[in-house]
Amino acid sequence: MKRKSKDQTRQAAFSRRLREWYRRSGRDLPWRKTRDPYRVLVSELMLQQTQVSRVIAYYDRFLHCFPTLTQLARAHPAQVREAWQGLGYYARARNLHRLARDVTQQGALPNEPLPSDPRLLRKLPGIGDYTAGAIASFAYERRAELVDTNVARVLRRAFVPDVDDRTAAGKREIWRIARALLPRTGRATWTHNQAIIELGALVCTARVARCAECPVSRQCLTANSSREAGRRASRLRSPTRS
Ligand code: SF4
Repeated sequence: MKRKSKDQTRQAAFSRRLREWYRRSGRDLPWRKTRDPYRVLVSELMLQQTQVSRVIAYYDRFLHCFPTLTQLARAHPAQVREAWQGLGYYARARNLHRLARDVTQQGALPNEPLPSDPRLLRKLPGIGDYTAGAIASFAYERRAELVDTNVARVLRRAFVPDVDDRTAAGKREIWRIARALLPRTGRATWTHNQAIIELGALVCTARVARCAECPVSRQCLTANSSREAGRRASRLRSPTRS
């Protein structure tokens, strides 16, 4: 049997600990209780640039107005705008409406209101790399990686603190790591992806990295370097014997 490299062992431990933490600490959000592709799509578009706490009420209201992709496709643009009213970034609502019309006109795939393949999802209006991965993983439980700003921050701090994730090469490296971290099954991938998003929102945030309460601090290069720096500083402070 092929032995795992040190990197692979660390990556596997990172994902396992992350998923264990999520099962204990993940928030109970409405879009995490469904695998309905349409509902997942609505939540993902609403969550772009908007906080979870704001999205919850709008998500319920929008789905109450348009419970299915077909009903959304048949709606008048003014009705869609009204249901989105207050959430801002209306281009998202326009894209969602256009997507619903395109998909229903083209005829959905058998048993799939939306494609499950990220490459096909990316061709739809308003669907970028992150959202394609999110729909494939959260609706269809496919082994698909996803990277948004929060996920990129976590992966950079944990695995490649010296990489600049705003450059094209840095982005490619972060996506490569996201792919390498995926667990073996689609179901475990669902949990892994939710967990890394949750960690970026609650623990490893843009403002502060709460390494002392982080479930993956032992696998994290940034936390390990700070621990090492702390140890060096305390050795320098302790009195030396002559
Ligand atoms: S240990 Fe700290 S820097 Fe590393 S992922 Fe956790 S919170 Fe972020």
